[in-house]
Amino acid sequence: MNAPATTELPVVVIGAGPAGLAAAAHLLDQGIEPLVLEAGPTAGAAVREWSHVRLFSTWGEVVDPAAEKLLAPTGWTRPDPATYPSGGDWADLYLQPLADVLGDRVRTGATVTGVSRAGRDRIVDADREQQPFVVHVAYADGREKRLFARAVVDASGTWGTPGPAGGSGLPALGEKAAADRITYRVPDLKDPAVRARYAGKRTAVIGSGASAFTALAHLADLAESGGGTGTKGVWILRRGLSGSTFGGGEADQLPARGALGLAAKAAVDEGHADAVTGFRTEAIERDADGRPVLLGEDGRRLDPVDEVIVLTGFRPDLSFLDELRLTLDERLQAPVGLAPLIDPNQHSCGTVYPHGHRELSHPEQGVYLVGMKSYGRAPTFLAMTGYEQVRSVAAAIAGDLESADRVELTLPETGVCGGAGLFDAPEAPEADGGGCCAPAPRLVRPGAPAAVGAAAEQAPAGGCCAP
Ligand SMILES: Cc1cc2nc3c(=O)[nH]c(=O)nc-3n(C[C@H](O)[C@H](O)[C@H](O)COP(=O)(O)OP(=O)(O)OC[C@H]3O[C@@H](n4cnc5c(N)ncnc54)[C@H](O)[C@@H]3O)c2cc1C
Repeated sequence: MNAPATTELPVVVIGAGPAGLAAAAHLLDQGIEPLVLEAGPTAGAAVREWSHVRLFSTWGEVVDPAAEKLLAPTGWTRPDPATYPSGGDWADLYLQPLADVLGDRVRTGATVTGVSRAGRDRIVDADREQQPFVVHVAYADGREKRLFARAVVDASGTWGTPGPAGGSGLPALGEKAAADRITYRVPDLKDPAVRARYAGKRTAVIGSGASAFTALAHLADLAESGGGTGTKGVWILRRGLSGSTFGGGEADQLPARGALGLAAKAAVDEGHADAVTGFRTEAIERDADGRPVLLGEDGRRLDPVDEVIVLTGFRPDLSFLDELRLTLDERLQAPVGLAPLIDPNQHSCGTVYPHGHRELSHPEQGVYLVGMKSYGRAPTFLAMTGYEQVRSVAAAIAGDLESADRVELTLPETGVCGGAGLFDAPEAPEADGGGCCAPAPRLVRPGAPAAVGAAAEQAPAGGCCAP
């Protein structure tokens, strides 16, 4: 089959998460037909997997303006902008209604397995820009299909590819063999079966971001609850403990996010978790009872644990983009124009400069990585950043460069982000400049009145400043 004329084709959006659905809304706003391909069974499939986690952003910060415009005629009422949704709320009350309005422009059970230029592999120059994109899709019922697109917006996130336990970025030796005792997500301790797995047990939590804070706080809550006696966390950190280990605390302009670090600090201070610092996991062995034993690169061998929770961040899956000519930063795996603006060595969540289609473009014109995926391995993404990205990208695809170039986004300041690049120096002084240095956080117990809003009852994880 010959490829059809490019102008008649839809823009394929990969992923029906917050960024992908917002991209579709902005494309429609520009008069362009989007086709959203979602691997999961529903829109917001990744967000649904963390339904039990409460966001540190309010409703007012996680609804896209073009999406709201599309939803308004349906009688949709925006939830109270000052309240904090859970992942489940975000999916039920916003993402699903938005997917419903988009109708059959959103296809679920449709996994994108490859993107290229029709008839041109990566090395062929001839007439490359004139060829439409070809998108290979594997459907849940086993069918495979080839679709054509005038542009491709990859909003597939990073949720599906969590980082490993190994301190070098590779899986630790024995990590795969110990898979039955390891999880890579914040467990939902409200689920009785999951609760039973961790209650009264000794659990290693590997990682130093918002997700690790959340897991530690949840384990501490479990320890204090009926049936949870003896629950103990062992917090594995590549760095040492310092003033900024626990994030921005009350200095964070997203107060619920600041409260997370304070809850983790309380877990340590109250003896529900022991911190093991300067530890880079090299191997995971088993003791005679099958319990995991963590071995460090420095030869340390920790006491056995019952479970391991690995929260070392997420990575972009670039495998299905292999035939495209992308330029990605060698460290972050983010578009080269964007990477310097989000480098965790330099910037906190709040010092990301406004950016749009120019920073997100590649030598392969017409392809954009947006949303969480655009940040590559940087842990600082906020939904509102993604909404501004897709507004600019949709305008650029429509040829409205004036609008596309008018990127304006003010993000909240914060001291939460410690530089990921500093991980390997346990006793290193904190980075200066860059807005990453936090004042020593004040201790707030989880659930105490000073702990902020929703985060106090069910703290969020991941995302900005995750792992
Ligand atoms: C636990 C957690 C809490 C967070 N809290 C906040 C917060 O409070 N505030 C904030 O601003 N941000 C937060 N974030 C960060 C960020 O806003 C969210 O991760 C958000 O979901 C990112 O949206 P996205 O659309 O880029 O990616 P995702 O939500 O991950 O959506 C990507 C979609 O693409 C689909 N997909 C993946 N691969 C393919 C493929 N090959 N083909 C087709 N479909 C595919 C997935 O199934 C998924 O549905 C949080 C993140 C996490 C993990």
